Amino acid sequence: MKYDILIEKLSLSRTVGVLTGAGISAESGIATFRDPDGLWAKFNPAELASMDGFLRNPELVWDWYNYRRKIIAESKPNAGHYALATLERLLPHTTIITQNVDRLHASSGSKNILELHGNIIENHCVRCKKPHTDHIDFEEKSPPKCSYCSSKIRPSVVWFGENLPKGIFEQADMIARQSDVFFSIGTSAEVYPAAYLPQTAKQYGAFLVEINPTHTSLTPFADLYIPAKSGDVLPEIVELLEKEIR
Ligand code: NAD
Ligand code: ZN
Repeated sequence: MKYDILIEKLSLSRTVGVLTGAGISAESGIATFRDPDGLWAKFNPAELASMDGFLRNPELVWDWYNYRRKIIAESKPNAGHYALATLERLLPHTTIITQNVDRLHASSGSKNILELHGNIIENHCVRCKKPHTDHIDFEEKSPPKCSYCSSKIRPSVVWFGENLPKGIFEQADMIARQSDVFFSIGTSAEVYPAAYLPQTAKQYGAFLVEINPTHTSLTPFADLYIPAKSGDVLPEIVELLEKEIR
């Protein structure tokens, strides 16, 4: 049977970790960062995804986030997201650890989700950090003002040079250590500390599966490397698992 070792490992597993990156949302029409036609090929990360960049040019950064918010608001989960939600229904000890900010895992029905890099839907004040819950007008060119301290509002994503949300990486690290099977899906595995997670999982004995049409620095360490689009292969894997454990 195709993927027989993986299916066996999954059916015997007690903890499953799934690290996802921009690639899992590519089939939903959301551009990745580091592919040749990705966002960083066109835009400068330091200008658009850092506190310095935001303070230097808040209008440019806000406008860029509005552009991405609009694309994300119009996008829907794809077959890869839905397959992972089914995986969690079959194996409730599954946790998604995502670098994505698009919330598509939640929209597709996954419940155990750790957002390593925050999300693009929520916003907060740069100064007093209070959440800003007013409606965001995607056409507005400059960031809104905080209703408590009048400072600028920023998206609740993690920018370059910033710490991950408190406690989230620690939880993800714990899952990686405990995982019997660990997936790395649609990530270039270049952004740390997220990229440590598959390495940790492997080091602590997980069966490491990588799904990515392109090789990464992780590929030589994978026990199973599947060079395919996540939206094609995840439904197939989950269907095989369902047959096995039913
Ligand atoms: P990345 O752009 O560095 O890498 C994307 C990877 O996905 C590449 O290795 C590519 O080969 C692979 N890929 C492309 N299409 C795929 C498909 N259909 N199936 C499987 N794999 C596919 O992205 P990353 O590793 O997630 O980089 C991390 C940063 O990018 C994070 O900080 C994240 O917040 C941010 N980001 C998020 C989104 C989003 O929320 N959707 C979009 C772009 C970037
Ligand atoms: Zn404030």
